Amino acid sequence: MDELRDLYQEMILDHGKRPRNQGRIEASTHEADGHNPLCGDVLHLTLTVDGDTVTDARFEGEGCAISTASASMMTDAVKGKNLGEVKRLVDTFIGLATGESSPDPNELGKLAVFSGVSEFPARVKCATLSWRTVEAAISGSDEPITTE
Ligand code: ZN
Repeated sequence: MDELRDLYQEMILDHGKRPRNQGRIEASTHEADGHNPLCGDVLHLTLTVDGDTVTDARFEGEGCAISTASASMMTDAVKGKNLGEVKRLVDTFIGLATGESSPDPNELGKLAVFSGVSEFPARVKCATLSWRTVEAAISGSDEPITTE
């Protein structure tokens, strides 16, 4: 468990400090806003969906290390997946982060490091914000996502 905890911190720190996929896709096909008032995390997500496949994903906004790391890893994870796979991944990730389910770690790959946040309820919202936002983006919801 200590090993997992170290890995968790290392990944979160790395992605929190040097986030991947930052910015905005000008000709995006899907977008959504997310807000976590409890922590102050705000996120604007843009996606390019070609046919049924997410070919690009970028985010911008201000957030704590955990929400930034989560958005960085989420955008990496959804690229190349089809919309059905993204929806399943959203459910799996939220189940893991909230502690409501314990998915097979192999299914989530490196995203499994977020299992550590389920012990910290305030942090669960930071970790799941970008996932709820991508879910809204692909379902075409115009309502901004809020964790409250
Ligand atoms: Zn946060």
